[in-house]
Amino acid sequence: MPPTAASNSAGAQSATGDASGSLPARFHDATGIDLHLHSTASDGRLSPDALLHLCHRRGLHTVAVTDHDTVAGLAEAQQTARSLDMTLLPGAELSCRWRGIGIHVVALLPAAPGAVLADGLAQLSEARHQRAVEIARRLERAGLAQAFERAREEAGSDRPLGRPDFARALVTAGLVPDLPAAFKRYLGAGRPGDVKTHWPELAVVVDWIVRDGGVAVLAHPLRYRLTRRKLTQLLDDFTAAGGEGAELVSGYQNEQRTYDLAGLLERRGLYASLGSDFHYEGGALAPGTLGPLPTGNVVPIWQHPRLSGHATRSAPASLPTTGSVS
Ligand code: AMP
Ligand code: MN
Ligand code: MN
Ligand code: MN
Repeated sequence: MPPTAASNSAGAQSATGDASGSLPARFHDATGIDLHLHSTASDGRLSPDALLHLCHRRGLHTVAVTDHDTVAGLAEAQQTARSLDMTLLPGAELSCRWRGIGIHVVALLPAAPGAVLADGLAQLSEARHQRAVEIARRLERAGLAQAFERAREEAGSDRPLGRPDFARALVTAGLVPDLPAAFKRYLGAGRPGDVKTHWPELAVVVDWIVRDGGVAVLAHPLRYRLTRRKLTQLLDDFTAAGGEGAELVSGYQNEQRTYDLAGLLERRGLYASLGSDFHYEGGALAPGTLGPLPTGNVVPIWQHPRLSGHATRSAPASLPTTGSVS
Protein backbone atom coordinates (compact mmCIF):
# COMPACT_ATOMS: atom_id res chain seq x y z
CA MET A 1 0.00 0.00 0.00
CA PRO A 2 1.47 3.40 -0.93
CA PRO A 3 1.95 5.76 2.00
CA THR A 4 -0.19 8.72 2.78
CA ALA A 5 1.60 12.01 3.16
CA ALA A 6 0.89 11.87 6.89
CA SER A 7 2.91 8.68 7.23
CA ASN A 8 5.86 10.41 5.62
CA SER A 9 7.51 10.91 8.97
CA ALA A 10 10.96 11.72 7.63
CA GLY A 11 9.53 14.97 6.25
CA ALA A 12 10.17 17.32 9.09
CA GLN A 13 13.73 16.35 9.91
CA SER A 14 15.44 15.55 6.66
CA ALA A 15 18.04 17.64 4.95
CA THR A 16 17.36 19.29 1.64
CA GLY A 17 19.22 18.09 -1.43
CA ASP A 18 22.78 19.31 -1.69
CA ALA A 19 25.98 18.59 -3.53
CA SER A 20 26.70 15.61 -1.27
CA GLY A 21 23.83 13.77 -2.91
CA SER A 22 21.41 13.49 0.00
CA LEU A 23 17.83 12.95 -1.02
CA PRO A 24 15.20 15.28 0.43
CA ALA A 25 12.11 13.95 2.15
CA ARG A 26 9.91 16.64 0.66
CA PHE A 27 9.25 16.72 -3.07
CA HIS A 28 9.62 20.46 -3.39
CA ASP A 29 13.06 20.40 -1.77
CA ALA A 30 14.41 18.28 -4.60
CA THR A 31 17.56 19.59 -6.25
CA GLY A 32 20.10 17.71 -8.30
CA ILE A 33 17.63 14.97 -9.25
CA ASP A 34 16.40 14.09 -12.76
CA LEU A 35 14.59 10.80 -13.29
CA HIS A 36 13.76 11.03 -17.01
CA LEU A 37 16.66 11.29 -19.49
CA HIS A 38 17.41 9.90 -22.95
CA SER A 39 20.66 8.72 -24.53
CA THR A 40 21.71 7.36 -27.92
CA ALA A 41 20.34 3.99 -26.80
CA SER A 42 17.03 5.51 -28.00
CA ASP A 43 16.31 8.92 -29.48
CA GLY A 44 18.70 11.01 -27.35
CA ARG A 45 21.75 12.55 -29.01
CA LEU A 46 24.36 12.00 -26.27
CA SER A 47 25.98 8.68 -25.48
CA PRO A 48 25.19 7.40 -21.98
CA ASP A 49 28.71 8.38 -20.92
CA ALA A 50 28.41 11.92 -22.32
CA LEU A 51 24.93 12.25 -20.81
CA LEU A 52 26.17 11.36 -17.31
CA HIS A 53 29.07 13.80 -17.64
CA LEU A 54 26.67 16.57 -18.66
CA CYS A 55 24.42 15.75 -15.68
CA HIS A 56 27.46 15.91 -13.40
CA ARG A 57 28.54 19.29 -14.81
CA ARG A 58 25.03 20.55 -14.19
CA GLY A 59 25.22 19.56 -10.52
CA LEU A 60 22.95 16.54 -10.61
CA HIS A 61 23.68 13.71 -8.15
CA THR A 62 20.78 11.29 -8.71
CA VAL A 63 19.51 10.43 -12.18
CA ALA A 64 17.60 7.79 -14.09
CA VAL A 65 18.39 7.05 -17.73
CA THR A 66 15.03 6.13 -19.25
CA ASP A 67 15.45 5.30 -22.91
CA HIS A 68 12.44 4.32 -24.99
CA ASP A 69 11.76 0.58 -24.68
CA THR A 70 15.36 -0.38 -23.94
CA VAL A 71 17.93 -0.68 -21.19
CA ALA A 72 20.82 -0.93 -23.67
CA GLY A 73 22.44 2.27 -22.37
CA LEU A 74 22.40 1.38 -18.70
CA ALA A 75 25.67 -0.53 -18.37
CA GLU A 76 27.70 2.35 -19.80
CA ALA A 77 25.69 4.90 -17.81
CA GLN A 78 26.23 2.95 -14.59
CA GLN A 79 29.98 2.78 -15.14
CA THR A 80 30.22 6.54 -15.65
CA ALA A 81 27.88 7.25 -12.73
CA ARG A 82 30.18 5.27 -10.44
CA SER A 83 33.26 7.09 -11.68
CA LEU A 84 31.56 10.43 -10.97
CA ASP A 85 30.17 9.32 -7.60
CA MET A 86 26.61 9.78 -8.82
CA THR A 87 23.59 7.58 -8.19
CA LEU A 88 21.99 6.01 -11.25
CA LEU A 89 18.57 4.40 -11.00
CA PRO A 90 18.16 1.83 -13.76
CA GLY A 91 15.17 2.77 -15.87
CA ALA A 92 13.35 2.69 -19.19
CA GLU A 93 10.36 4.47 -20.76
CA LEU A 94 7.90 1.90 -22.06
CA SER A 95 5.49 2.54 -24.93
CA CYS A 96 1.90 1.36 -24.55
CA ARG A 97 -1.71 2.16 -25.36
CA TRP A 98 -4.64 3.21 -23.26
CA ARG A 99 -8.03 3.68 -24.90
CA GLY A 100 -6.30 4.05 -28.24
CA ILE A 101 -3.96 6.80 -26.99
CA GLY A 102 -0.18 6.37 -27.00
CA ILE A 103 1.00 6.49 -23.36
CA HIS A 104 4.49 6.26 -21.83
CA VAL A 105 5.30 4.49 -18.56
CA VAL A 106 8.66 5.00 -16.89
CA ALA A 107 10.02 1.93 -15.12
CA LEU A 108 12.29 2.74 -12.19
CA LEU A 109 14.12 -0.35 -11.06
CA PRO A 110 15.93 -1.34 -7.89
CA ALA A 111 18.39 -3.33 -10.03
CA ALA A 112 18.90 -4.53 -13.59
CA PRO A 113 15.68 -5.80 -15.20
CA GLY A 114 14.64 -9.35 -14.41
CA ALA A 115 13.40 -11.98 -16.84
CA VAL A 116 9.82 -10.69 -17.12
CA LEU A 117 10.74 -7.13 -17.99
CA ALA A 118 13.60 -8.27 -20.23
CA ASP A 119 11.13 -10.36 -22.21
CA GLY A 120 8.69 -7.44 -22.31
CA LEU A 121 11.39 -5.13 -23.64
CA ALA A 122 12.22 -7.68 -26.33
CA GLN A 123 8.56 -7.63 -27.35
CA LEU A 124 8.58 -3.83 -27.44
CA SER A 125 11.73 -3.83 -29.55
CA GLU A 126 10.06 -6.10 -32.10
CA ALA A 127 6.87 -3.99 -31.96
CA ARG A 128 8.96 -0.86 -32.56
CA HIS A 129 10.56 -2.46 -35.61
CA GLN A 130 7.22 -3.57 -37.06
CA ARG A 131 5.80 -0.14 -36.39
CA ALA A 132 8.75 1.50 -38.19
CA VAL A 133 8.05 -0.66 -41.25
CA GLU A 134 4.44 0.54 -41.21
CA ILE A 135 5.40 4.19 -40.64
CA ALA A 136 7.82 3.94 -43.58
CA ARG A 137 5.10 2.47 -45.80
CA ARG A 138 2.78 5.33 -44.95
CA LEU A 139 5.42 8.04 -45.38
CA GLU A 140 6.37 6.62 -48.78
CA ARG A 141 2.76 7.02 -49.83
CA ALA A 142 2.94 10.58 -48.50
CA GLY A 143 5.99 11.35 -50.66
CA LEU A 144 9.11 10.26 -48.79
CA ALA A 145 10.77 7.63 -51.01
CA GLN A 146 12.92 5.00 -49.24
CA ALA A 147 11.61 6.23 -45.91
CA PHE A 148 12.93 3.31 -43.85
CA GLU A 149 16.45 3.56 -45.25
CA ARG A 150 16.51 7.33 -44.75
CA ALA A 151 15.35 7.02 -41.15
CA ARG A 152 17.97 4.33 -40.53
CA GLU A 153 20.64 6.69 -41.84
CA GLU A 154 19.44 9.47 -39.53
CA ALA A 155 19.54 7.10 -36.54
CA GLY A 156 23.20 6.39 -37.23
CA SER A 157 23.07 3.00 -35.54
CA ASP A 158 21.07 -0.21 -35.71
CA ARG A 159 18.85 0.54 -32.71
CA PRO A 160 15.08 0.28 -33.25
CA LEU A 161 13.78 3.33 -35.10
CA GLY A 162 11.52 5.95 -33.59
CA ARG A 163 9.42 8.75 -34.95
CA PRO A 164 12.20 11.34 -34.42
CA ASP A 165 14.32 9.40 -36.96
CA PHE A 166 11.54 9.71 -39.52
CA ALA A 167 11.08 13.36 -38.56
CA ARG A 168 14.75 14.03 -39.31
CA ALA A 169 14.47 12.18 -42.61
CA LEU A 170 11.53 14.40 -43.57
CA VAL A 171 13.58 17.51 -42.73
CA THR A 172 16.66 16.26 -44.61
CA ALA A 173 14.51 15.47 -47.65
CA GLY A 174 13.16 19.03 -47.56
CA LEU A 175 9.53 18.03 -47.06
CA VAL A 176 9.29 20.08 -43.86
CA PRO A 177 11.42 22.90 -42.44
CA ASP A 178 11.98 21.47 -38.95
CA LEU A 179 11.16 18.71 -36.47
CA PRO A 180 8.04 20.33 -34.97
CA ALA A 181 6.63 20.67 -38.50
CA ALA A 182 7.44 17.02 -39.22
CA PHE A 183 5.37 15.98 -36.20
CA LYS A 184 2.64 18.45 -36.96
CA ARG A 185 2.17 17.30 -40.55
CA TYR A 186 3.31 13.68 -40.64
CA LEU A 187 4.01 12.02 -37.29
CA GLY A 188 1.94 13.62 -34.54
CA ALA A 189 -1.41 12.44 -33.19
CA GLY A 190 -3.86 11.71 -35.99
CA ARG A 191 -1.28 12.12 -38.78
CA PRO A 192 -0.34 9.33 -41.23
CA GLY A 193 2.86 8.36 -39.39
CA ASP A 194 1.16 8.10 -36.00
CA VAL A 195 0.99 4.31 -35.66
CA LYS A 196 0.09 3.00 -32.19
CA THR A 197 -1.46 -0.34 -32.95
CA HIS A 198 1.74 -2.26 -32.27
CA TRP A 199 2.03 -1.27 -28.63
CA PRO A 200 0.70 -3.44 -25.78
CA GLU A 201 -1.99 -2.20 -23.43
CA LEU A 202 -1.05 -0.03 -20.46
CA ALA A 203 -1.95 -2.71 -17.90
CA VAL A 204 0.36 -5.20 -19.63
CA VAL A 205 3.51 -3.07 -19.39
CA VAL A 206 2.71 -2.01 -15.82
CA ASP A 207 2.43 -5.69 -14.94
CA TRP A 208 5.86 -6.48 -16.45
CA ILE A 209 7.43 -3.73 -14.35
CA VAL A 210 5.71 -4.66 -11.11
CA ARG A 211 6.34 -8.38 -11.45
CA ASP A 212 10.06 -7.71 -11.67
CA GLY A 213 10.05 -5.57 -8.53
CA GLY A 214 10.19 -2.24 -10.36
CA VAL A 215 8.11 0.87 -9.81
CA ALA A 216 5.78 1.94 -12.64
CA VAL A 217 5.59 5.71 -13.08
CA LEU A 218 3.18 7.39 -15.49
CA ALA A 219 5.33 9.62 -17.71
CA HIS A 220 4.43 13.30 -18.30
CA PRO A 221 0.67 13.02 -17.53
CA LEU A 222 -0.05 16.55 -18.74
CA ARG A 223 1.45 16.00 -22.18
CA TYR A 224 -1.25 13.73 -23.58
CA ARG A 225 -3.69 16.63 -24.04
CA LEU A 226 -6.39 14.79 -22.11
CA THR A 227 -9.45 16.42 -20.65
CA ARG A 228 -9.32 16.50 -16.87
CA ARG A 229 -11.92 13.76 -16.75
CA LYS A 230 -9.90 11.54 -19.06
CA LEU A 231 -6.76 12.26 -17.03
CA THR A 232 -8.44 11.14 -13.82
CA GLN A 233 -9.61 7.97 -15.58
CA LEU A 234 -6.09 7.32 -16.81
CA LEU A 235 -4.72 7.78 -13.29
CA ASP A 236 -7.42 5.46 -11.90
CA ASP A 237 -6.74 2.73 -14.48
CA PHE A 238 -2.99 3.13 -14.04
CA THR A 239 -3.32 2.77 -10.26
CA ALA A 240 -5.66 -0.22 -10.59
CA ALA A 241 -3.11 -1.89 -12.91
CA GLY A 242 -0.40 -1.60 -10.23
CA GLY A 243 1.14 1.76 -11.19
CA GLU A 244 2.59 3.49 -8.14
CA GLY A 245 3.87 6.86 -9.28
CA ALA A 246 3.50 9.64 -11.81
CA GLU A 247 5.70 12.46 -13.03
CA LEU A 248 4.30 15.40 -11.17
CA VAL A 249 6.78 17.71 -12.90
CA SER A 250 8.06 17.02 -16.42
CA GLY A 251 10.22 19.81 -17.77
CA TYR A 252 8.33 23.07 -17.90
CA GLN A 253 4.62 22.85 -17.34
CA ASN A 254 1.74 25.05 -16.28
CA GLU A 255 2.01 25.78 -12.56
CA GLN A 256 -1.72 25.70 -11.89
CA ARG A 257 -2.12 22.37 -13.62
CA THR A 258 0.85 21.04 -11.65
CA TYR A 259 -0.88 21.88 -8.36
CA ASP A 260 -4.05 20.25 -9.60
CA LEU A 261 -2.09 17.15 -10.62
CA ALA A 262 -0.47 17.04 -7.17
CA GLY A 263 -3.94 16.73 -5.65
CA LEU A 264 -4.85 13.94 -8.06
CA LEU A 265 -1.69 12.00 -7.08
CA GLU A 266 -2.21 12.55 -3.37
CA ARG A 267 -5.78 11.31 -3.46
CA ARG A 268 -4.65 8.07 -5.13
CA GLY A 269 -1.59 7.52 -2.94
CA LEU A 270 0.69 7.84 -5.98
CA TYR A 271 4.32 8.79 -5.46
CA ALA A 272 5.55 11.90 -7.29
CA SER A 273 8.47 11.75 -9.72
CA LEU A 274 10.20 14.43 -11.74
CA GLY A 275 12.37 14.66 -14.83
CA SER A 276 13.38 16.88 -17.72
CA ASP A 277 12.81 14.32 -20.52
CA PHE A 278 16.11 15.63 -21.90
CA HIS A 279 17.01 14.42 -25.42
CA TYR A 280 19.72 16.70 -26.82
CA GLU A 281 21.68 19.85 -26.14
CA GLY A 282 20.53 23.09 -27.66
CA GLY A 283 16.84 22.32 -27.15
CA ALA A 284 14.54 23.96 -24.64
CA LEU A 285 15.55 21.63 -21.82
CA ALA A 286 18.80 20.57 -20.21
CA PRO A 287 19.19 17.79 -17.65
CA GLY A 288 17.74 19.02 -14.37
CA THR A 289 15.62 21.71 -16.05
CA LEU A 290 12.23 21.66 -14.37
CA GLY A 291 9.32 23.96 -13.78
CA PRO A 292 8.50 25.00 -10.19
CA LEU A 293 7.99 22.07 -7.79
CA PRO A 294 4.68 22.32 -5.94
CA THR A 295 4.69 22.48 -2.17
CA GLY A 296 2.36 20.10 -0.41
CA ASN A 297 2.21 16.58 0.84
CA VAL A 298 3.03 14.43 -2.18
CA VAL A 299 5.58 11.73 -1.40
CA PRO A 300 8.70 11.71 -3.59
CA ILE A 301 9.26 8.58 -5.62
CA TRP A 302 12.79 8.17 -4.25
CA GLN A 303 11.17 7.34 -0.91
CA HIS A 304 9.46 4.30 -2.38
CA PRO A 305 10.57 1.32 -0.27
CA ARG A 306 11.77 -0.59 -3.33
CA LEU A 307 13.91 2.34 -4.50
CA SER A 308 15.14 3.68 -1.21
CA GLY A 309 18.26 1.53 -1.39
CA HIS A 310 19.41 3.99 -4.02
CA ALA A 311 18.50 6.85 -1.75
CA THR A 312 20.34 5.63 1.30
CA ARG A 313 23.39 4.58 -0.69
CA SER A 314 24.16 8.15 -1.71
CA ALA A 315 23.03 9.82 1.49
CA PRO A 316 25.47 10.91 4.19
CA ALA A 317 25.47 8.59 7.19
CA SER A 318 23.91 11.26 9.41
CA LEU A 319 20.78 11.55 7.31
CA PRO A 320 17.63 9.96 8.76
CA THR A 321 16.75 6.87 6.76
CA THR A 322 14.45 7.66 3.86
CA GLY A 323 13.11 4.12 3.84
CA SER A 324 10.83 4.87 6.78
CA VAL A 325 7.74 5.55 4.67
CA SER A 326 6.74 1.91 4.48
P1 AMP B 1 8.33 7.22 -30.60
O1 AMP B 1 8.82 6.72 -29.28
O2 AMP B 1 9.05 6.60 -31.75
O3 AMP B 1 6.84 7.15 -30.73
O4 AMP B 1 8.72 8.76 -30.67
C1 AMP B 1 8.28 9.63 -29.65
C2 AMP B 1 9.33 10.70 -29.42
O5 AMP B 1 9.23 11.67 -30.44
C3 AMP B 1 9.15 11.45 -28.14
O6 AMP B 1 9.75 10.77 -27.06
C4 AMP B 1 9.88 12.71 -28.44
O7 AMP B 1 11.27 12.49 -28.28
C5 AMP B 1 9.62 12.92 -29.91
N1 AMP B 1 8.51 13.85 -30.18
C6 AMP B 1 7.21 13.64 -29.95
N2 AMP B 1 6.48 14.70 -30.34
C7 AMP B 1 7.34 15.61 -30.83
C8 AMP B 1 7.20 16.92 -31.39
N3 AMP B 1 6.00 17.49 -31.55
N4 AMP B 1 8.32 17.56 -31.78
C9 AMP B 1 9.53 16.97 -31.64
N5 AMP B 1 9.73 15.75 -31.11
C10 AMP B 1 8.65 15.07 -30.71
MN1 MN C 1 11.86 10.59 -27.15
MN1 MN D 1 7.59 10.16 -23.38
MN1 MN E 1 10.99 10.49 -22.62
